[in-house]
Amino acid sequence: MVDTIIHEIGHFNHRNTSSNYKKMLKLQEIMNCGIRDFSIFIKFLTGKKSRKLIKKEISPYATSSAAEFVACTFSAIIRGKKLSPEIYNLYKIYEGPFADLFIKQNKFNVLQ
Ligand SMILES: [Zn+2]
Repeated sequence: MVDTIIHEIGHFNHRNTSSNYKKMLKLQEIMNCGIRDFSIFIKFLTGKKSRKLIKKEISPYATSSAAEFVACTFSAIIRGKKLSPEIYNLYKIYEGPFADLFIKQNKFNVLQ
């Protein structure tokens, strides 16, 4: 229950802080929004190595879209789960809320 609320707060913050939020939804949702720019969707879908890591460290569900990845990762961070720099790097790439703050708190530099 609490996990679900934190997950939804993650979506809420992501939607309010990223102008690309709608482009990070699932394909049908993107199309329902009338968006025809699938660049972020394709980038997320084709990042096989990243998706493998997301599946292992976060959850299989988190691989369903960039928006779900961000919300699931937000929830994991808030709950204090230890995550790799690579996951934080992806979280920043997909404009996860408070990415810089979370990275600073972990005292490591993201790759890139
Ligand atoms: Zn969600």
